Amino acid sequence: MPYAHRYADGRTIPLPVGKVVCVGRNYADHARELNNPIPDTPLLFIKPATSIADLDAPLQLPDFGGPCHFEAELAVLIGAPLTRATPDRTLAAVAGYGLGLDLTLRELQERLKQKGHPWEMAKAFDHSCPLSAFVAVEQIADVEDCRYELWLNGQRQQRGDTRQMLTKVSALLAYCSQFFTLLPGDVVLTGTPAGVGVLQPGDQLKLSLEQCLTVNTRVAE
Ligand code: ZN
Repeated sequence: MPYAHRYADGRTIPLPVGKVVCVGRNYADHARELNNPIPDTPLLFIKPATSIADLDAPLQLPDFGGPCHFEAELAVLIGAPLTRATPDRTLAAVAGYGLGLDLTLRELQERLKQKGHPWEMAKAFDHSCPLSAFVAVEQIADVEDCRYELWLNGQRQQRGDTRQMLTKVSALLAYCSQFFTLLPGDVVLTGTPAGVGVLQPGDQLKLSLEQCLTVNTRVAE
């Protein structure tokens, strides 16, 4: 089945599948674990629609580029256009919240970074952005104060708390929209906390967002 945005109750969300705008280093603890400087403005990159896959289906890792790392992130589904928006306007344009993995070929990314080259081959390849179902915005009491987790083979690896974001969700959407119009069906990935690591064939993953979304999935063998 081709990917389509859907709600956690299984209903399809009547929005096209668009681009994914991502932010690097939005949690200081993750920037530190990779020995990266903390940026003074958000570091943006884009994954194309062809990178999106269903997080519930077995994850297909690429057969090139070396080890593939998971980065669990809060995913924001856009429901109304945002161009050069101010932060106070952005949350009203959100259609739902979910979880995504920003799959990253870390060694390839390092080689590209050392040469000063763009990251796309390491981050925007096919299936590099598995997305969960989305919960309606009303189910998240305050997106600027919510938590999510990633468990790998029964061990908790990542715990995100949006209060720890260097750029909060509302401000991040506004910042993205200064450069890239966000269209209905686009997704913004909001950065990953510390604890990223390598995925292996057969790994079991559990991701949860507050009390309203839990996904059990695995890496294809
Ligand atoms: Zn990321």
